[in-house]
Amino acid sequence: MYDILGRNIDYIRLSLTDRCDLRCQYCMSENQNFLPRTEILSFEEIINLVKFLIQNGVKYLRLTGGEPLVRKDVLKLIQSLGLFLKNGELQEITITTNGTMLSHYAKDLALAGIRRINVSLDTLDAQKYKKITRGGDIAKVFAGIDEAIKQNIHVKINCVVLKQDNFDDLPKIIEYAHSIGADISLIETMPMDEKILGREEQYVPMNIVRQMIENKWQIIRDEYKTNGPSQYYRIMETGGRIGFITPLSHNLCASCNRVRITCTGKLYMCLGHDDYYDLRPALLNNNFNELYKIYSDALNHKPKAHDFLIGGGYVPKRPMSLTGG
Ligand code: SAM
Ligand code: SF4
Repeated sequence: MYDILGRNIDYIRLSLTDRCDLRCQYCMSENQNFLPRTEILSFEEIINLVKFLIQNGVKYLRLTGGEPLVRKDVLKLIQSLGLFLKNGELQEITITTNGTMLSHYAKDLALAGIRRINVSLDTLDAQKYKKITRGGDIAKVFAGIDEAIKQNIHVKINCVVLKQDNFDDLPKIIEYAHSIGADISLIETMPMDEKILGREEQYVPMNIVRQMIENKWQIIRDEYKTNGPSQYYRIMETGGRIGFITPLSHNLCASCNRVRITCTGKLYMCLGHDDYYDLRPALLNNNFNELYKIYSDALNHKPKAHDFLIGGGYVPKRPMSLTGG
């Protein structure tokens, strides 16, 4: 289906939970409150929702969170969703994960039809990882990435650029990604949920990052395109791909093909706005006609662009973990 500006919305980012086993400093507060379980969509509701979305032109699904793999019995859900891949109704299901549980799940995810995942990793240093994630164990992430690669799942590392915590280490992180055959995307930190403090001091515009990379390596444009917002380049010396996600310094809204649905069934037309449409009442009644009315109304209200700005602009009230990335 097309939105009001003619953008073909064929990609949904669906959050399975707002919970997470980590507390990354730029994403959550230390004492993050989580939603009561009664508010979270059941597996049956999620499957019906995905059926509805497929009927309305969605071909690509990304499962996110919070941490999608902490949801109880998540594998059963992914196996059910995987049937939409097997019958050709969906072209791809991808997952964004922090990777801490990937060594346990990778084999079954591959069997369920998952071919690509994004793993978030902002440092290679165990102590820094512990600090950024407030307690995470980096060894689990490395083990998860290794297992995913062993299962032939293509890995992309997502790395949020943080002035104090990882800027100087970026070349090492890029070299690591390319040494294991993974792509890497570098992400500008986004202002979500004003209660999360300290992000402005960590913000580095992507042109500064690119300059640092170009001083070290030769990079050329790569035409590789996924459904995400990365613009890809190839580093000649490492042979690997690198993407730059620049929500603040350059918005990519004109080609935005996605909307986001939270684990409670709220459809956010844009990561950078707080307007949403609640799909759950119609889902509970299994009323696809009503769902259609709400969904088409939502697409007709998808904004032209977000208004993110560091040091100004609009700061969405919800944390990133509610709508996922
Ligand atoms: N827990 C999973 C993970 O970390 O990959 C999925 C959800 S997480 C919200 C999705 C992505 O959003 C991660 O790559 C994370 O680094 C990124 N993210 C979270 N908060 C962010 C922020 N304020 N600015 C930029 N990226 C952010
Ligand atoms: Fe959890 Fe992902 Fe947010 Fe980190 S970025 S706190 S792993 S949801």
